[in-house]
Amino acid sequence: MLDKPLLLLTLLALAPRVSCAQSSAPDAPEPGSVEEIARATTEARFLSPWVAYLPASASVVSPRTFLHRIPGAAGELVNSSTAYGYCRALAGSSPRVRLFTIGRSEEGRDIVMLAIADEQGIQELERLRAATAALADPRTTDAAAAERIVASARPIYYFNAALHSDETGSTESVLELAYRLAVSEQPMIRRIRENLVVLINPVSNPDGRDKQVEWFYRFLKGRTNLASLPRQAPPYWSKYAFVDINRDAHQQVHETTKAVFRMFREWHPQVVHDLHESVALLVTWNGTGPINQYVDPLTYAERLELSFHEVQALTGLGMPGVWTWNFGDDFAHLYLDAIATNHNSDGRGYETFGNGTAETLIPEQPGEDGTVEWYRPLPPPPQKSFSWSARDNVNYNETAMLAALDASAQQSKSLLRNFYLKALHSWRKGLEQAPYAFLIPDGQGDPARVAQLVARLLAQGIEVQRAAADLTVSEGTFPAGTYVVRLDQPYRNYAVDLLAAQDYPRDAGEPYDDVSWELPAHYHLAAIPTADPRVRAANLAPLSAAPHPQGDVAGSGPVYLLKDSGQEGLLEARYRLARFRISIAERAFTVNGAQYPPGSWILAPQAGLTVALHDVAAKLGLEFTSTASAPQVASHATPLPRLGLWVPWADTDTIGWARYSLDQRHIPYVYVRDEDIRAGKLRERYDVLLYGHVDLELAEQIQGIPRTWGPMPFKKTGATPSLGTPADSDDITGGTRRAAALHRCGGTPDHARQRLDVAARGRHGARRAT
Ligand SMILES: [Zn+2]
Repeated sequence: MLDKPLLLLTLLALAPRVSCAQSSAPDAPEPGSVEEIARATTEARFLSPWVAYLPASASVVSPRTFLHRIPGAAGELVNSSTAYGYCRALAGSSPRVRLFTIGRSEEGRDIVMLAIADEQGIQELERLRAATAALADPRTTDAAAAERIVASARPIYYFNAALHSDETGSTESVLELAYRLAVSEQPMIRRIRENLVVLINPVSNPDGRDKQVEWFYRFLKGRTNLASLPRQAPPYWSKYAFVDINRDAHQQVHETTKAVFRMFREWHPQVVHDLHESVALLVTWNGTGPINQYVDPLTYAERLELSFHEVQALTGLGMPGVWTWNFGDDFAHLYLDAIATNHNSDGRGYETFGNGTAETLIPEQPGEDGTVEWYRPLPPPPQKSFSWSARDNVNYNETAMLAALDASAQQSKSLLRNFYLKALHSWRKGLEQAPYAFLIPDGQGDPARVAQLVARLLAQGIEVQRAAADLTVSEGTFPAGTYVVRLDQPYRNYAVDLLAAQDYPRDAGEPYDDVSWELPAHYHLAAIPTADPRVRAANLAPLSAAPHPQGDVAGSGPVYLLKDSGQEGLLEARYRLARFRISIAERAFTVNGAQYPPGSWILAPQAGLTVALHDVAAKLGLEFTSTASAPQVASHATPLPRLGLWVPWADTDTIGWARYSLDQRHIPYVYVRDEDIRAGKLRERYDVLLYGHVDLELAEQIQGIPRTWGPMPFKKTGATPSLGTPADSDDITGGTRRAAALHRCGGTPDHARQRLDVAARGRHGARRAT
């Protein structure tokens, strides 16, 4: 707590900057907003004149009026329904704002987006959307037409807030940004409004936002001593994910990702900008090498230019600790912003300094980022030397976003032109250099898996065709039905990135994420590149929807057989046929001239079997054959195991993917919590207990979340209606050991919190928290 002389000094230090803001801006400040923002800002250098006041408006409702506080007020967080309520009020009162619903979360919350421009821009949104869509496809828009479109089009700049739920400041920041963009008459804001369309997704993962906000009020509010803070995030931010909700650009599992991709296909924004929090005080993403060769050089150049503009603009405003570049590699584009990077736009992001709470703290972090470097001209102040508030975070976020928008408005034509050029480059590469296409033969032992791969490509906007007749190229003859990904298309670069092997340089150091996105390797399929341009002249039919293999049941029994060639649907089929007896061949056998490998299924005559097999074959693309009598081969029965899946409360992330996979395949399992393990008698309940990867030391896997923080209920109550899903608990602390044995719990609670935060944060520690 500040003593009075120091408080007075702080206010005096803020005063000149505030008066500067009032005199330089044509806006009248909303009465009281200047003082309230100054009080919530811990030091004058953490504020800019651009955001030191809220512009007054007689007709448009401000976030301060709506929330009865400024955004970023200490000790307060807005939940999704209130944030959306404000968005609706803003769109309802300003002709410069329109609201769109772009998705619905797993738990049924809308995902809402604002579009902001001047009145003319809002009236012409359809024309502006059609313009960027036309620029996205150089096959139908030649260079002259592109230049005409650029002359009257606008770049579309999209902000994505609250993807990682414990990075709480972005939602507060963008609500204020939206209002400022709608009502301010500052020249810079007018320029932004007149030259851009700004899209804002204030709560991209509303399920997680609401869980986090309730968690904050239940466990963190009023606690300002970092050393004694309990765990700062609930164990889940969505049905399946925690931090990994961000690792979803290629596969599009989460509704959050699907909503952003839907937005991308409808608007073709030139920038998708994700707002995160981790290191001091603001890093604008670029990343060191290695560089992914399938991203256009213009993208890297534009991102660096925008980032250095932010660094110089905020440094010029006297705000320390704004930097870029040295933050992870720039090779893997599997995060949410990468939806843009992979589709000829710019994926960008910030890490601002969050607290993981809305309270003001004295932060503590390893001090490796405090040196002067060419990419960090004015480093952040030393750790423990300053307090950091939620408003400080809003000030940095909003000032930098304004700088980025201002730079984009001033180079609006080149952003549009480059967007067109990137699509042109990608398409021309597919026209002029090998490979000219990838060929994916149908079947390959499992038509369902081929269909899944093709569905992934289509979901990314990559065009896929199908050979209508046998297809001969220099690599060989491929049968009719072979899938063909021609590379003379605007998303050629992304198609090659997904279908070719990754080539991460050996001497490049550890990658930020050690995952592969080579889809053929994941699906165990061949995707054959062809260097023969004749593939373009082949008889190919475009695919408008993902294929759905029908499978087949040949004959009418009474004995049925199913080859085991590693089909994707085998496990699901076994559970769908749970009430039937199935034998598994222990050796290869031959029936009616057909070879059956070991593992193939033998289904003896049973009531209702034929009907059930037809259903399973159609759903899973499996091919059953029939024979008059069971083959003479050693076999064994396949009892159905009772599955349990243990998910430690201390780290739910990776096992969330396992849960997703089981759910997708309709395979029944029991969600096993730490307390269920603690209760024992596991053999009575499960035949198989599955346990996935966790980022926890062995002792942490056993001891779990420190009991000293307990009890920490994760339950639906009147005050916490969003908690308790997908599993609930009276107390998530204590791990799997019974209370009497917990005296050996090592380390202090503070140490444990840091460890568990790191574990929850990602596979390569806390350096980058995206
Ligand atoms: Zn993040």
